[in-house]
Amino acid sequence: MKITSKTNICIIIGDPIENSLSPQMHNAGYVASGLDGKFVFISAKAEEKDLNGAIEGIRSLGIRGVTVTHPHKIKVMTLVDEIDSVARKIGAVNTIVNNNGKLTGYNTDCIGVQLALEEKISINGKTVAVLGAGGASCAATFGVIEKGAKVTIFNRTLVHAKSLATDFKCEFRSLDNLEEVKNMDIIINATTIGMNEDRSPIDKKFLNSKQIVFDAVYSPFETMLLRDAKSIGATIIHGTEMLLFQGAAQFELFTGKKAPINAMRKAIMKGLKYEN
Ligand code: NAP
Repeated sequence: MKITSKTNICIIIGDPIENSLSPQMHNAGYVASGLDGKFVFISAKAEEKDLNGAIEGIRSLGIRGVTVTHPHKIKVMTLVDEIDSVARKIGAVNTIVNNNGKLTGYNTDCIGVQLALEEKISINGKTVAVLGAGGASCAATFGVIEKGAKVTIFNRTLVHAKSLATDFKCEFRSLDNLEEVKNMDIIINATTIGMNEDRSPIDKKFLNSKQIVFDAVYSPFETMLLRDAKSIGATIIHGTEMLLFQGAAQFELFTGKKAPINAMRKAIMKGLKYEN
């Protein structure tokens, strides 16, 4: 074990946290970059009622970097010292960097969406259906609009879709109108439908082979939506790619070094038991 009194500590805070793949992903990145012993990443469960204390602890103990996950991404904005402009526009913080006690909040989820899509396609000028109006949808909607896409948000609760669409100046529809995705270039599922269940938010008949279908859900690795899309010849993007690229952006903020993408991807797949 190379950990010493000089090791920088990074953590993930959230609740629940037990199944997070962030520790494996970041620690694999440290090893691959020669930062083993200089950085270590652990998980720290923080219930909603304990968030203020957790943030004060991060500041006073000199925790270098923090991944912030459900349910803290919005409330934590009131507790950090500075928020970068992208996180402010999205309205959520998923990353904190501690520079000598000064905490700065960032949002790397939107970079995760942009880079996962840009591996397959140029986003500029595309029509995009974003399903959902929660945190992942905010990051995805902002991310693709910033890259020049035309977005329609589809959500179960119309008032949530309307609020998000008003913020981002885009269209919104009910999840009951999903036949409209037939004519769209990119479909992003940012609802929780399909998470740890074999269910898809979209009837297969509304998908076609020219589309890019991206599921933010990454557990299971291949959701029913992605299996349906693959079976009709559409291009699919797994939620693990968003997890990877948002984590890579955090790695760079924490360490100042370029993230070793392949080692981090391998650690995610190992964590999901999809080693190859
Ligand atoms: P969230 O803020 O709680 O939002 C959940 C969304 O799902 C809401 O729009 C909600 O609609 C909708 N929804 C929930 N249950 C539904 C149902 N039974 N039928 C229809 N719609 C339903 O959650 P989130 O943080 O955005 O996360 C969404 C998903 O993205 C999760 O599976 C999460 O694991 C995943 N995610 C992945 C990454 C990654 O790196 N790959 C990052 C962040 C999140 P209402 O508005 O009607 O409630």
